[in-house]
Amino acid sequence: MNDEIIDVLIIGAGPSGCVAASYLHAKDFKIKVIEKNTFPRFVIGESLLPRCMDHFEEAGLLECLKDIGFEIKSGARFIKGSQVCNFDFSKKHTDGWDWTWQVPRADFDNTLAKELIKKGVDIAFEEEVIDVLFENDISKTTLKDKDGKHKVIHAKYIIDSSGYGRVLPRILDLDKPSELPKHSSIFTHVKDIHRPIGKEGTLITFDVISTETWLWVIPFSNGVTSIGYVGPTDFLDSFEGNATEKLMQMLKLSDYFYERFKDVSFMFDPMLIKNYSKSVKQLYGKGYVLTGNSAEFLDPVFSSGVTFATESALLAAKLITKELHNKVVDWEEEYSKYIKDGVAVFASYVKEWYTGNLQKLFFHRPENPEIKKQICAVLAGYVWDKTNPFVTKHNRLIKTFAHFIDIENDEKKSVDKLKNKKK
Ligand code: FAD
Repeated sequence: MNDEIIDVLIIGAGPSGCVAASYLHAKDFKIKVIEKNTFPRFVIGESLLPRCMDHFEEAGLLECLKDIGFEIKSGARFIKGSQVCNFDFSKKHTDGWDWTWQVPRADFDNTLAKELIKKGVDIAFEEEVIDVLFENDISKTTLKDKDGKHKVIHAKYIIDSSGYGRVLPRILDLDKPSELPKHSSIFTHVKDIHRPIGKEGTLITFDVISTETWLWVIPFSNGVTSIGYVGPTDFLDSFEGNATEKLMQMLKLSDYFYERFKDVSFMFDPMLIKNYSKSVKQLYGKGYVLTGNSAEFLDPVFSSGVTFATESALLAAKLITKELHNKVVDWEEEYSKYIKDGVAVFASYVKEWYTGNLQKLFFHRPENPEIKKQICAVLAGYVWDKTNPFVTKHNRLIKTFAHFIDIENDEKKSVDKLKNKKK
């Protein structure tokens, strides 16, 4: 038999696959990364969270990223009409990184992959995983190369980091409908010819057009800016025309950004991802683990995708290391529960964003600095910090505070009515 036998096969060379590969390679395991594309390749997911800096650092991938000069992201701005809410990652409840980057993912992911190759990791580009079988204690993966030739790899573990490829969820029938509302997104890159000078021109901004729709503006250090519109699928479907015409009409809805982008040309035809939220029935099984988008994707509103991709990849790599060293791993407790706990925090924030409750907290004035710090830590990706009440009581606190704000607003309205009557 000429089939290759290795310790760990990693499907996909996105941030998730690269972090897992880098960690396992440093532990001297025999690993291989299979990537169906050539790099650089475009992928969406350009605003990172400070928490992922911990992962790149631990995986030995931070220095190569620092060399590129990506745009620094030290917070995030949310605007709604004339209301503005700025988060500054240096003012957050949890200790940790207070900055990260805004990145064109083609360059970012290519930097990671090149660094892996420099370290000696075996990456097979333009090879696609087309089938996986689990037999006894070893998996048998069939690959197809660019010439259509098939080959087989046997591995003790598979880390599925295939993103929207969702290789194992498809093959093993693990897909589960997401509990989040059906939302879609349309996006492109522009040469930002009217970019304001100074901080305004570098700020990542979420422009809230209505409770359920919003526009992202993510400036990169190379003069290009990513713009994307998000909303309920049926609302996005209601715009007429091709993708470019649709996005132009959506840009008109932004009072804040229309002037800046009204005459820029799109660098590629806007791409549409429909019903982007994904979920699975289980995150692991005998001989495999799902990481990153292949496991779960919630929503782009809090930029959590890459951070979950790297958090899950690093943890999966550590647990596989443990098991390959003949130590017992409780995958349910040590992997599934941990990841699901973090996902649940962000899921509450996403749900409450679209009910409008979280937006009430963001735009309420005067701000409560303590609450803001706690929410800021969540937005920085520190969603496992049990000292943060906005982590531990994620499913209650947002609703409760939004309710108080409603009562306060009702009282204000009654007082105003009384005053007007007296006049
Ligand atoms: P990916 O980066 O998608 O990498 C997976 C790799 O697997 C790809 O290179 C692919 O070619 C390869 N692959 C797939 N199938 C196969 C196969 N059969 N064989 C071999 N290789 C295969 N996240 C953020 O953090 N910030 C954001 O601002 C953000 N914005 C988003 C906006 C939208 C509209 C959407 C839909 C998502 C957004 N995300 C964002 C999420 C982000 O795109 C993902 O979470 C992130 O890319 C996940 O990384 P990954 O490594 O899991 O997968």
